[in-house]
Amino acid sequence: MAKLGRELAAKGVDVISLSLGETDFYTPDFVKDAAKKAIDENYSYYSPVAGYPDLRKAIAEKLKRENNLDYTFDQIVVSTGAKQALTNVILCLVNPGDEVIIPTPYWVSYSELVKLGEGESVFIDSTIESDFKITPEELEAAITPKSKLFMFSSPNNPTGTVYTYDELAALVKVFEKYPDIYIISDEIYEHINFTGRHVSIAEFDSIKDRVIIINGLSKAYAMTGWRLGFSASNKEIANACDKLQSQVTSGTCSITQRAGVAAYHGSLDSVHEMQKVFLERRNLVFDLLKEIPGMKVNLPGGAFYFFPDVSSFFGKQTEDGEVIQNSDDLALYILNTGHVAVVSGDAFGDPKSIRISYAASEDKLREAALRIKNALAKLK
Ligand code: PMP
Repeated sequence: MAKLGRELAAKGVDVISLSLGETDFYTPDFVKDAAKKAIDENYSYYSPVAGYPDLRKAIAEKLKRENNLDYTFDQIVVSTGAKQALTNVILCLVNPGDEVIIPTPYWVSYSELVKLGEGESVFIDSTIESDFKITPEELEAAITPKSKLFMFSSPNNPTGTVYTYDELAALVKVFEKYPDIYIISDEIYEHINFTGRHVSIAEFDSIKDRVIIINGLSKAYAMTGWRLGFSASNKEIANACDKLQSQVTSGTCSITQRAGVAAYHGSLDSVHEMQKVFLERRNLVFDLLKEIPGMKVNLPGGAFYFFPDVSSFFGKQTEDGEVIQNSDDLALYILNTGHVAVVSGDAFGDPKSIRISYAASEDKLREAALRIKNALAKLK
């Protein structure tokens, strides 16, 4: 959708893009300064594959300071974005035929990475009615002798759903019964959370050794292009990820790593400032989307997306007589008629919804909501 949006824009159409998964803020100055210094200090060479030791220590300290979690630096593997950290873990853990349990909606790459690992994705569907959360009963029903891994994000992309401590505790009770299942906890949206303290499922000691935390700088520090993510896991998994990564990328960019040391040692002021702005935008967009007849919307607890159920528009006709069959058709219609780029929910394993990012200015968000409302009102 982003590509189609850019093509339309290149033809002179004023397109508002709400399709991308990145913030519209700038990387904090103190982080940029650290990178500039690293260039001048000639950090031009291969780093240790899993990252500079002081960076891995800074991450372990961050996990203690912010999450009250104990990890040693050799349990941390720094990668080329959270995406590579996920890839490492999945390729190391999943063998052909293993099942990976993924609640829907999920971030697009999860199921594709499972395919790369020759595993089988087993989906647990959730809906907007349950705030896109799964229950312990649903989790247990999805478990089979082939289950190897459970993978989820909280705060979630694309729904913004945030699991509470009690909800995670209930899921942990199930995992306690199945000691062979690993859990990937993707916490990349940790700092864009409007519900209070971020809770990691790794806080539960009974399963901590089987949890692999994925996190990184992309969202919290507005550093998507810098490519720094990490996994925090038991040492066996960390060693395997290190070995795999040594054959694939030799580790992430040395300059980015030096910037990462500054970020993880530095102040969270810019992160909190960004979170405040996102909260204001979330409230604004919620009020705007609620007013659109036919759109079912919930209040996301984190990240920077809305994921409204738009299935009431399926079967309706455009002014050209075309029938909207699914969320792909609707996203295309909104782009071509309303000139707003959003993403079809299909890619996230939920064909009833569309994802609307609010990583844009309030003026743009107001204008985009109006355009979407007007475009949808034309469907008969
Ligand atoms: N996990 C989730 C849930 C994401 O939304 C993203 C980025 N869109 C990633 C992982 C990957 O992050 P990175 O850019 O650090 O690879």
